[in-house]
Amino acid sequence: MAEHEIKKNYIISELRSLCAHCVSKSQLPHRCPVKELSLRIESLRGVPLIVNSEFKGLLWSH
Ligand SMILES: [Zn+2]
Repeated sequence: MAEHEIKKNYIISELRSLCAHCVSKSQLPHRCPVKELSLRIESLRGVPLIVNSEFKGLLWSH
């Protein structure tokens, strides 16, 4: 998996740890601002910038 995908997954799992419902994997439907944020992060698309084979973030095309 590409480094930026690993980072995105990490950030999303950290975000979900902010929501008590998501943390407990509760099946209860809940209004979840964290889920909205995680979907937005998931949909980020950019070109990975690699310097000296190190990931330096994404470049956004518009
Ligand atoms: Zn939640």
